[in-house]
Amino acid sequence: MIHSIHDGYFSGKHVLLRVDLNVPLDKNGNITDDTRIVETLPTIDEVIDKGGIPILMAHLGRPKGKRNPEFSLAPVAEALSEHFGYKVTFVDDCIGESAKKAVADAELGEVILLENLRFYAEEEANDKDFAGKLAELGEVYVNDAFGAAHRAHASIEAITHFFSEKYAGNLLQKELQYLGRAVDEPRRPFTAVIGGAKISGKIDVIQSLLDKCENVIIGGGMMFTFYKAMGYEVGNSLLEADKVDLAKEVIETAKAKGKNLILPVDVVVADKFDNDAAFRTVNADSIGATDIGMDIGSASITKFAEVIRGSKTVVWNGPMGVFEMPNFAKGTFAIAEALAVCTLNGGITIVGGGDSVAAVKQMKFEKKVNHVSTGGGASLEFLEGKVLPGVKALEV
Ligand code: AMP
Repeated sequence: MIHSIHDGYFSGKHVLLRVDLNVPLDKNGNITDDTRIVETLPTIDEVIDKGGIPILMAHLGRPKGKRNPEFSLAPVAEALSEHFGYKVTFVDDCIGESAKKAVADAELGEVILLENLRFYAEEEANDKDFAGKLAELGEVYVNDAFGAAHRAHASIEAITHFFSEKYAGNLLQKELQYLGRAVDEPRRPFTAVIGGAKISGKIDVIQSLLDKCENVIIGGGMMFTFYKAMGYEVGNSLLEADKVDLAKEVIETAKAKGKNLILPVDVVVADKFDNDAAFRTVNADSIGATDIGMDIGSASITKFAEVIRGSKTVVWNGPMGVFEMPNFAKGTFAIAEALAVCTLNGGITIVGGGDSVAAVKQMKFEKKVNHVSTGGGASLEFLEGKVLPGVKALEV
């Protein structure tokens, strides 16, 4: 059983709160998308409203266990105070004397933000001693970091063994509810749309979704490995030669299970990997030897959109093409539009994964789908049917 933050009494307590503040920064250290901060605010507010002092623990980027100012959480502290009006004390370390002193001096109504946990290699190593040092800073533990819940890291897993009182925050609960309902009791037809660069990162989720969904739509760079498995020429498109047999297996599994594995019927191909390349649309079985597949074609868009619009539950992870280049973003944007129509028709639509979420945001479609997940990797692992280590660790 997992306790909700709503069950906790925090009055006068220091509440160690693991949050996901892994926001994108531009070259000058400005936050380019503050969604993850915004999504964390309800839990910070709940702790404060209940008389507790939130001690925020988070990571940013991949500093690989070394202190590196490029990955400092200082810009997040600034955003919390300047944009969101919190009284924030930023501590330039996440353990040790400076952190202990800040916690001891903290007053009610204040928020403490500790420096990037990943400045210590011990964080990703799920190190017990490091977790113990973090645990000294609070009397109660709350995890609200859905985006990191698939990682057994010290602030997520090892730390929970130091607390008898541990809770799931609002965001973590919201994500689990949406994804959980989609997986456990989907309204049917249930369709998954999987794209992105490589089959290797997503093969497990494709296999698992073939059990759960009626339709699995494949797009993005990974489609070419499937084409190769079907005996098509893929030219200079992205190909994982060592995964062709795996793709064959997936095709066979879908057939055996009577599921629709739907691949693009046409492809936008270019003569170089560049937005300014010359491009044309060809049938899936007519890719030339020097062509590079960049996006799904218009016949595929029509077909995919029809399946999506007719579905009652849709999960989408990964772009259909190289959507960072405007000339090859059409397929990805069309999927977002089809999801919006599906939502209007009463379907449940869930978007996860950094790039598909970015596409939905570029179109300002966040409100036109039911749920935009803050965790790409975590939502994929959840859909695979895996128990997330961060969720398991909260069990009492
Ligand atoms: P992932 O992180 O696996 O979801 O992959 C996202 C990336 O896949 C994006 O940066 C896309 O540009 C890339 N991608 C999508 N379609 C293709 C393609 N046809 N060829 C190369 N890269 C692609």
